Amino acid sequence: MKVTVVGSGLAGSEAALQLACSGIEVDLYEMRPGTMTPAHTTGLPAELVCSNSLRSDLIHNAPGLLKEELRRCNSFLMKAADSCRVPAGGALAVDRDEFSQAVQEMLREQKLITVREEEVTEIPQGKVIIAAGPLASSSLTDAICKLTGSGSLYFYDAIAPVVDFDSINTDRAFFQNRYEADNNGDAVADYLNCPFSREEYFNFVQELKNGERVSTRDFEKEIHFQGCMPVEAIADSGDMSLAFGPMKPVGLVDPRTGIRSFAVVQLRMENKAGTAWNLVGFQTKLTYSEQNRIFRMIPGLENAEFVRLGSMHRNTFINGPDLLDEKLRLKTHKRIMFAGQITGVEGYIESIASGYLAGVLMAGIDPVPPADTALGAILRYPTESVADNYQPSNINYGLFPPLRKKPKGGRRARREAQAERALKSLGDWLSGVSSLQESITGSGKKYNHK
Ligand SMILES: Cc1cc2nc3c(=O)[nH]c(=O)nc-3n(C[C@H](O)[C@H](O)[C@H](O)COP(=O)(O)OP(=O)(O)OC[C@H]3O[C@@H](n4cnc5c(N)ncnc54)[C@H](O)[C@@H]3O)c2cc1C
Repeated sequence: MKVTVVGSGLAGSEAALQLACSGIEVDLYEMRPGTMTPAHTTGLPAELVCSNSLRSDLIHNAPGLLKEELRRCNSFLMKAADSCRVPAGGALAVDRDEFSQAVQEMLREQKLITVREEEVTEIPQGKVIIAAGPLASSSLTDAICKLTGSGSLYFYDAIAPVVDFDSINTDRAFFQNRYEADNNGDAVADYLNCPFSREEYFNFVQELKNGERVSTRDFEKEIHFQGCMPVEAIADSGDMSLAFGPMKPVGLVDPRTGIRSFAVVQLRMENKAGTAWNLVGFQTKLTYSEQNRIFRMIPGLENAEFVRLGSMHRNTFINGPDLLDEKLRLKTHKRIMFAGQITGVEGYIESIASGYLAGVLMAGIDPVPPADTALGAILRYPTESVADNYQPSNINYGLFPPLRKKPKGGRRARREAQAERALKSLGDWLSGVSSLQESITGSGKKYNHK
């Protein structure tokens, strides 16, 4: 068997690697660098286009559980991510270039994978996994619409700016992790915090509200994904919205004053060298000149040099529940699978998980992961949700079946119990599919049973 995978992003790379390690030949098509998307900047596989964080690594948070499950399933991209971590408290953040290079190395090492640098403009023949992402080229999007008879679906997403470390005024900005104020600014914590007085905060909010924005083409209705609202749109929703949202000062004490500031902008390390720092939660569609002016009002960023400015992009996704069966295949053309964000799962780690699922399901793994695992939830969201008004979603515990018996101890105890149940179910599933994998490859893939 030979499979064509379209897109060497997060989902496509993981799917191709899973197929190859099941002994299946893969043609992996990637249009970059010949044809770029509005957000990618390199020709490398698995490029992280915005934040360098794969979110929480703690299993009482659903993204943390999903990562742990992927590790136990021997996900290649999780292995790459773990190998190039940068400090980020309880989150898994990576050096994005090292991450992409590690994935490129893995793809090169697989003799069964042929990477073809070419844009796919029609649906390929034979078995196919379409993992062209939220920025799939328009000719491919048109071909998908023609095949499925659906209109194109989209929403808007935004990228946050990145600052050169040497241009940050560290006399004003201080290193500290939330709730870890005892380092007095001496020890190097994972986050840099820019503290605002009340007056500075309200002036800043006013400028954000008045700042000039990049206009969207008026025939495209603007729909923002809740977790990725532009900072100026949050400011529009109320003068205190940012102080209760991405600029909340909770758990942070300014070592110069010994008190909590009125609001704080946090920056997180973008690369291992610590030369570039990302403004956390500051995705924006302000014009570049306005970003240069307004973001320099942030205390500590008066002389900021921006390595990258923020921007907005249209995201494409299909109506998964309407079009896909329980194994991510088009109901009308079972040879064609979809994976990654184009199915309506949202986020880096969710896209890796979706790619993993497409790879192993295309390789013949059966049954699908149980519903009470994070992988099961990521599979069922785009295949079993209500099709009316279908919108992309991150992994969250709301997608899991409820516990039979609620443990005492509140939300955290409940989530820990759900995580424990998920890992147990995953272990059982892996024991079952390992023997099937063995019969597919003749040799078997080693899973990390725990
Ligand atoms: C602007 C923006 C910012 C985002 N920020 C975040 C974030 O901070 N955190 C987060 O968790 N998620 C974020 N996401 C969402 C999402 O997690 C990422 O887009 C993720 O990369 C999706 O993975 P994927 O594999 O589905 O698609 P991608 O990683 O985009 O991979 C798709 C690949 O297909 C290629 N391709 C497209 N069309 C064709 C074609 N016709 N022929 C051949 N190749 C093609 C593309 O070049 C690309 O390499 C963001 C998305 C966007 C658009």
